[in-house]
Amino acid sequence: MDQPKKIGFIGLGVMGGRMARRVVDAGHQVVVFDKQSSAVKALVDAGATSADRPADAAADSDIVMTSLPAGEHVGEVLGGQDGILAGVKPGTILVDLSTIGPEWASRLAKDAASHGATMLDAPVGGGWKDAEEGSLVIMVGGESAALDGVREVLEVLSKALFHFGGPGTGQAAKLALNMSQAVMTVGAAEAVRLLRALGADLPTFLETLEALDANPWFQRPLRHTIEGAYPAGFRVSLALKDARLATQSGKSAGVSLPGGELARDLLNKAMDAGMGEEHFSAIVKL
Ligand code: NAD
Repeated sequence: MDQPKKIGFIGLGVMGGRMARRVVDAGHQVVVFDKQSSAVKALVDAGATSADRPADAAADSDIVMTSLPAGEHVGEVLGGQDGILAGVKPGTILVDLSTIGPEWASRLAKDAASHGATMLDAPVGGGWKDAEEGSLVIMVGGESAALDGVREVLEVLSKALFHFGGPGTGQAAKLALNMSQAVMTVGAAEAVRLLRALGADLPTFLETLEALDANPWFQRPLRHTIEGAYPAGFRVSLALKDARLATQSGKSAGVSLPGGELARDLLNKAMDAGMGEEHFSAIVKL
């Protein structure tokens, strides 16, 4: 590490808590904030200090990172009298690691710029285990110079980092990724339905896919179906949020995404069926 940096970290949930922990363990001075006191305590026990408001977490920081559920939450944490932008000094780099879609990301980057800060959208690919092990893949949108300023910290979290262009383009990449994964899961669900209807053995089909080196994202829902368990991980509620963002962004951009819409509708049904906390491959059950 060149020199320890002062970093504000807001949003310490499934992903943020683990990412913040890695940043602390790398030797940076981290100030954390979350609405949930238990999440804050875990980080303070690990060596971070806590702030009473997002503005205070930002006040003395070179970099402020956020990992929050959706655009509304990032907007709330950024704006208002207690928000990051009320405390931030000019030149601070804001890195949003949440999945919020390109519209939110572009709007918030403009708000940050009006306070002399630069915001990067940096949504992450991978799950909680990757967050814990620093093996996420990060998709960045925003200014190259700002990315250079935070690269070393992002490398603590990731095994690979890709820069897609201006504000919002990291979000575009993340939505394209999650949407195609959801569409593949619909394909897996239909494969299960067809195999069952025609009396073919599901485990043998999975072996066939392995022999053909089929995409692991396609294999996973079939494996979960055979095991009869959809473990915690990337949950239905988050997959639905991302499928909605992807189809909305497609609509705004004037492109038709029929597969994405189908996946979104199935995820909606899964939510209505009370499956929100299950792994999103649980849509196979529908
Ligand atoms: P989470 O719900 O576990 O955590 C969100 C945290 O934000 C919680 O600790 C909550 O208390 C806090 N929070 C919410 N509103 C707040 C506010 N106004 N002020 C302060 N704290 C607030 O979510 P997560 O699973 O960690 O996901 C975070 C982001 O990462 C989401 O955008 C998600 O789509 C994305 N993501 C998640 C996964 C995954 O596997 N869970 C994988 C890749 C990307």
